[in-house]
Amino acid sequence: MKTASASLLLKPGKERSLQRRHPWVYASAVAGVVGDPGNGALVAVRGSDRRFLAWAAYSPGSVIRARCWSYAESDVVDGRWLALRVAAAVQRRRELWSGTNAARLVFGEADGLPGLVADRYDDTLVVQIQAAGVDAHRDELLDALCAASGCAKVFDRSDAALRTREGLADSGGVLRGPAPPETVRIREHEVDYAVDIRRGHKTGFYLDQRDSRLALARRVRAFVQVHGRGPRVLNCFCYTGGFSLAAARAGAAEVISVDSSADALALAQRNAALNGLAETGASPAPVRLDWVCGDVFEQLRLLRERGQSFDFIVLDPPKFATNQHQVERAARAYKDINLSALRLLAPGGSLLSFSCSGAIEVDLFQKIVAGAVIDSGVDCYLRGRLGAGADHPTLVTHPEGEYLKGLLLERM
Ligand code: SAH
Repeated sequence: MKTASASLLLKPGKERSLQRRHPWVYASAVAGVVGDPGNGALVAVRGSDRRFLAWAAYSPGSVIRARCWSYAESDVVDGRWLALRVAAAVQRRRELWSGTNAARLVFGEADGLPGLVADRYDDTLVVQIQAAGVDAHRDELLDALCAASGCAKVFDRSDAALRTREGLADSGGVLRGPAPPETVRIREHEVDYAVDIRRGHKTGFYLDQRDSRLALARRVRAFVQVHGRGPRVLNCFCYTGGFSLAAARAGAAEVISVDSSADALALAQRNAALNGLAETGASPAPVRLDWVCGDVFEQLRLLRERGQSFDFIVLDPPKFATNQHQVERAARAYKDINLSALRLLAPGGSLLSFSCSGAIEVDLFQKIVAGAVIDSGVDCYLRGRLGAGADHPTLVTHPEGEYLKGLLLERM
C-alpha cells in the first residue's frame, strides 16, 4: 500500500471532529467513497470541499468507518511508517522496566495505532488486533514489535466479537515462536505473579492497575510504621490476587479476597505460594490470607452482619456499564458496593474505589461515591485520584481512551 487512490468524502459540517484530532470517522459522517478501497485499506479523508483532513484505515463494515493514522498530508503511511510508530510506543515506556517486566507496549489510539494492543509479559508478547487497518499490516507490525521489544514469542488474544464487527475472520493462538507455557511468570514491584495468557481476562493480567497496586502497598507500609501492626485488608473482585499480594507483601496482617471466579482464585492462591505468602507443611503463613469464592454484593453484607471492619478496602469491579444505556443501572451498582464497603471501613481506614466503565466519566463516578459517603454517614476525605499507569496513556483529543478511574478515600 503506497499511495492512496481512494478517498472518503465527509458530509458538510462533519469535518470538525477530525480537525479537533479525534481519530474516528463515524459512518454517519461519510457522504461517499471515491475509488474502491478494501477492508483496512489506506484512504484519504476529505471534507465536503475535498480538502485533505487525514490519512485513515477504511473499515467498510464498521460503525467507525475509518480510523486515522495521520493528519499530515505529507506523511507516507506504509508498513515502514507504522513500524516507526511501534518503535516510538515501545520507547515511550522505557522508564517502566525498573519496576516490572510486564507492561502494555501499544495502546491503540493513544499510540497512533488504532485497534492494536500489545502487552509484554516477560519474554512473550500478547496482542489484540481488532481493527481492519492494523489487521492489514499485521506482519509488519509484529516484526516491528519483536524488533523493538526483543521478544520473539507472540500470542494472539484478539476479541472475536470485535473482529467480527470489523469484518475480520477469527484469530487467536500462537503467532510467533513456540507455544507459551501454561502460565508466564512476571514480577511487578517485587511481587511475582503467574499469568495465564491463554485464558486469563484481557491479555491475562490487569496491567492497568500497576500504579494503584503500588499505591496500596505504600500505604500499607506507612500504616505498619505508624500503628506498629499490620492492617486488615479486604480486596473485592480480587481476580488473581493483584492487590491482595501487594498488600500482603507490604506487611498486611490479614487479607480477605473475594471473587466469583474459582479459576481466578486458584491462580491467586498459586501466586500467594509463589511469593512465600502461603502456608506450607513446614511453616505457617506469614500473613493470614482468606480467599472467598462468592458474590461481592452478598459478601459485603455478610461481613457487616458479622461486625467486621477493615483498615483497607479495595473495590475493583468489572465494567458495570458497557454503553450509555447502562449508565443508570451501573450507577446504582457502584453506589451499592461503595455504600456497603464504607460501612466496613475502620476509623482512619482507606477505600480504593475504581470504575473501569468508559461510559461513566470521572465526575459522575465521584458523585456516585459521594452519594454513598452521605448515605453511609461515614465521613471521608478524598486523599487522591488513581488511574492507569504510563503504559496506558490518554490522548487529550480522545478522552474515550481514559476508562479507568479510582478514588482514594480516607475515613475521618
Ligand atoms: N483487581 C483485579 C482485577 C479485577 S477484574 C487485579 O488487579 O488483578 C474483576 C473481577 O471481578 C474478575 O476477576 C471477575 O471474576 C470478578 N467478578 C465479577 N463480578 C463479580 C461479583 N459479582 N462478585 C465477585 N466477583 C466478581
